[in-house]
Amino acid sequence: MKQLTDPFGRKIEYLRISVTDRCDLRCSYCMSEDVEFLPRQDILSFEEILRVVNSFAKLGVTKIRITGGEPLMRKKLPELIASIKAVEGIEEVLMTTNGTLLTQYAKPLFEAGLSRLNISIDTLKADRFQTLTRRDRLQAVLEGIAEAKKYAFDGIKLNAVVMKGMNDDEIIALTDFAVANDIDITFIEEMPLGEVGYDRSVTFLSSAEIRGVIQQKYNLQDSSYKTGGPAVYTSIKNNKTKIGFISPHSNNFCSSCNRVRITAVGRLLLCLGNENSQDLRTLMRDGCDDQQLTDHLISALRLKPEKHEFDLAEEVKILRFMSHTGG
Ligand code: SAM
Ligand code: SF4
Repeated sequence: MKQLTDPFGRKIEYLRISVTDRCDLRCSYCMSEDVEFLPRQDILSFEEILRVVNSFAKLGVTKIRITGGEPLMRKKLPELIASIKAVEGIEEVLMTTNGTLLTQYAKPLFEAGLSRLNISIDTLKADRFQTLTRRDRLQAVLEGIAEAKKYAFDGIKLNAVVMKGMNDDEIIALTDFAVANDIDITFIEEMPLGEVGYDRSVTFLSSAEIRGVIQQKYNLQDSSYKTGGPAVYTSIKNNKTKIGFISPHSNNFCSSCNRVRITAVGRLLLCLGNENSQDLRTLMRDGCDDQQLTDHLISALRLKPEKHEFDLAEEVKILRFMSHTGG
């Protein structure tokens, strides 16, 4: 079997797929209130997504993350998960979700074979949740987390983006919540994706600062624990909960990058912090055969840059929001 490898010798084993740009929340760091969603016919169909997954699986990709937008806004998503899980070579199907619809979907997702769930939650305060996401849905997320815990997923992890002056006073509370629930949590540095109407250099907080806050209460130890993503983990003595840090600014993780992304409209994006991409949708809709699709994936890998460059002091270079890209 051919193994997809980029010009810097990195093996590509992990594909993140955005299945929709739609969302029931409007997180201020991710999209604007009056965001215009794409016409449905522009979004890849399940058949097109499966075709892409099949091609990647033949090139050595074993792990698929479903994301968005909010992936659970896409109808019949558990059916897509089950079909992806059945593709030869695919070992793990994961999902990142805002959690609002998990009371309804945790069971069907588990039954469809979803391995792990990342649930995003940046605050435990209802009024702040309303401010940060422009929607009053904290209770739904908390109930969604409780529902997900009923099933034997290989892992459930919380994701929190931390912003100075917005939710940094909840770093300990979010850690306590993860510990009380026996689940892992990852703190993420905010990335400059899309124009959001506030100065991200003012709200930026580094992973080192976040870790410093947690250490005021918990004795964190460096850990070799890995989940195949960019997070660096620490553990707490005598505790199951792992605390992770994703540091796109302060600790460039590009040298070990093993992943590429497919946007909701079928753009193969080689790096989150760079616009190099290949339009797979047009290729497929123009009637390419499987060999041509595979050849395009291999040649597109030449566009993968060595590393991303995020500079908070400069003007926003990447106008695409995370909701289009798939986090
Ligand atoms: N809607 C789902 C959710 O919120 O989990 C999946 C898509 S969302 C784009 C994926 C992840 O990206 C979330 O954890 C979100 O907090 C994170 N995210 C969005 N915009 C970001 C930004 N500018 N910087 C850092 N993380 C961001
Ligand atoms: Fe929606 Fe997720 Fe973006 Fe929030 S981070 S607006 S939940 S896509």
